[in-house]
Parts: sequence; structure tokens; C-alpha cells
Amino acid sequence: MALVNEHFLKLSNNYLFADIAKKVNAFKVSHPKQRVISLGIGDVTRPLCPAVIEAMHKAVDEMAHKETFRGYGPERGYDFLREAILKNDYLARGIHLDLSEIFVNDGAKSDTGNIQEILRWDNNIGVTDPIYPVYIDSNAMIGRAGVFKDGRWSSVTYFPCTEENHFVPQLPDHRVDMIYLCYPNNPTGTVLPKEELRKWVNFALHNESVIFYDAAYEAYIRDESIPHSIYEIKGARKCAIEFRSFSKTAGFTGVRCGYTVIPKELQAFTLGGEPVELNHLWDRRQSTKFNGTSYISQRAAEAVYTPEGHEQVRQTIDYYMGNAAIMREALAKMQLTVYGGENAPYLWVKTPGGAESWKFFEQLLYGAGVVCTPGVGFGPSGEGFVRLTAFGNREDVEEAMQRMGEWLK
Ligand SMILES: *Cc1c(COP(=O)(O)O)cnc(C)c1O
Repeated sequence: MALVNEHFLKLSNNYLFADIAKKVNAFKVSHPKQRVISLGIGDVTRPLCPAVIEAMHKAVDEMAHKETFRGYGPERGYDFLREAILKNDYLARGIHLDLSEIFVNDGAKSDTGNIQEILRWDNNIGVTDPIYPVYIDSNAMIGRAGVFKDGRWSSVTYFPCTEENHFVPQLPDHRVDMIYLCYPNNPTGTVLPKEELRKWVNFALHNESVIFYDAAYEAYIRDESIPHSIYEIKGARKCAIEFRSFSKTAGFTGVRCGYTVIPKELQAFTLGGEPVELNHLWDRRQSTKFNGTSYISQRAAEAVYTPEGHEQVRQTIDYYMGNAAIMREALAKMQLTVYGGENAPYLWVKTPGGAESWKFFEQLLYGAGVVCTPGVGFGPSGEGFVRLTAFGNREDVEEAMQRMGEWLK
């Protein structure tokens, strides 16, 4: 008899966005004339930039000829892309990495979810709260998160990010082996100043923990003092893995390409206290379970680093951040309390009158025909907030703000 991995049964059946879609569909059925505007799901809407499209066409043509056809690529990614990453994303910020420390992948979700495999199941984990659900769910699947009860996982340490602490997570009072941080943050849109990130690096060094640093939104940082990479902090190479993605940076959510950095100095230990390089373990894992990202996607990603690509991608990010600025201003005029949206494409909005997230979600949908994401879906500290994204079309954003303004009057 085949037995299932019962840890999977501990996961909630419905994915947050499936619940939202169900409620939105119910609204559409009862209000067929109302046009619904979604500021909910975190997907981009602008097309790929011309430099990327050109590079993809060229790569496709190469695939059409036997002289330039490419089959399996190197598992860690092609050198042309890894060299562009090293030079533009790191060397330009004074961070020296080696090619062997970069693993190109098919997007950050795969690696942020899979990375936990190379550490023992009985390490304990800690996450900022609210949080991107992938970190906890992937750990729950191998039994590291315990059981889900009353909105919390029993074996997870939550680092609350609330109005009271200005969305700056406080260090725990006990050892945590695996620490997940995401900055700029999804869902709150807030960032972590260098001195705060330094506290986490020092905590991890002291406890011999590993930090999983998700920097998927680093391209949205406007404030020059905010770190783009955790390796801007001294000592981070000994304790941190960094995840990046072209998804939000360059609209690659449908193309699929990202990368993970695992410095050679980063070690974890056997039960007997023997140090092991995590770079080596991940390489071993990838060469067994992953056969690389498509050549076409990697050529597309390379084009993001050309002068034209860089400029075109910047314009798209400016467009989204323009939306965020419009939203911030309009929401403030409605007397709503808003966080984020200055160094990230997300706005974290406090529900008026302390309404529960899901209650306000329904009120906003039925009152203004606008879809948001209930904050509590990202963790217990998200209750009383909703997330709005700045990834929409400008006209939709403006209309949504106008509708909300009239509704809240
Ligand atoms: C969108 C997002 C990613 C990127 O996912 P991809 O798999 O690269 O598309 C990673 N982390 C967070 C927090 C995200 O919101």
C-alpha cells in the first residue's frame, strides 16, 4: 500500500488567490454590468521590452539551425548570463562573487520553495509575518512547520511586522536555524534599512543559522540608503543565500528566469559537527532534479543588462512606481493609512474602523468593484490590512482610486 506524505494534508486546501477568485466570480455573476478592477494579484501587466523581444527572436532563430542549435545547457546557467549578473547586479555595488556562486533558475519560486531540501527536516524556521506563503508551505511539506491551528503554524517562529514596530521585525529571543526575509517586502511594500539587516546577519552568524533572502523586488528600491543585496552587509557571505528574479524586474512572470546566489563560504553542519558547503549540496541537488532554464529565456534575461534593455526596463518600473505614487496620494486623501509603495510595487492599507481583512475585501468589492488581497492571507499580523498592487494599467488605477474615493465619501 502506498502511503501519502501526510504533511501535505496539513496545508490549507485553498490557495489564497483561489479563494479570492471564487468571491470575485460570485460578485460578477450577481453584478454582470459592473466592470471589476483588480488591484489584487501580484502579476505584472506591461509587455516585455523591445531589447528582450529582440534577444528572444534571435535565440529562436539560432535554435532553427544545426550550427547554432542548443540542447541541454549547463545546469547552473550559461556563462554569458552569469557573467552579466556578476558584473551588473553585484560588481557594480562593490560585491565580488564567483561565477560558481550563481545558479540560474526558472524563477525564484522554485528555488525559494526547494532550497529547504538541503537542510535537515528538524531545523526550526522563522519568518517575518505577514509573508509570501511559499516559504512556510514548502517547509510544511516536509514536516518542519508543525500543524496549522488558529491561523498559525505550531513550529514556526513568527517575527511580526506591524504598525507598532514600523514594520521592522525584531530578533527572536531563541535560536532559529532557518530565517526567511523578503525585502523589499511582499506583501507590505516596506524595506529594511542597512542597520536593521545587519542585526539579522549578526544574529545568523552568532547562531550559525542560514538566512534565505528574497530580493525579488530590489529593482523597485528608490531610496539610495536601502541595501539591494544582503551581501552589502559584512559577514553575509557566511550566512545568507540570496534569491533574485527577472519576473518583477523585467516582466518575466511568463518567460521564467531568476537566479540564486550561494557563496562558497556558506556552511551548515552534520550532526557530528562537520562543516559542509551549501553551494556544493545545492549543485548536487540541482544536477539531479533540474535541467536548466531554456536558452531562449537566458538570452532574454541577458538583454535586460544591455544599455537599451536596462533603460527600457527602468521605464516600465517607473510606470508601476508612478501608479504607486498615484495610489498613495489618493488613498491618503481618503483618510486611509497606507504603508509601502515607495520602494516596492505594493501598498499595505489599514482597513478603516479596524475591519477584518476579508470583511473589507468584500466591502470594497461590492462598494467599488475593486479587488484587493486580504492581509490576513499572508499571516496573522496581516489582519486588519489589505494589499494593493501597483502593477495595473494607469487608467485602471486611476478609475479604481476614483471609485474608492466616491465609495468612502
Ligand atoms: C513574485 C515573487 C517572486 C518571484 O517569483 P518567480 O518564480 O521568479 O516568478 C519571488 N518572491 C516573491 C516574494 C514574489 O512576490
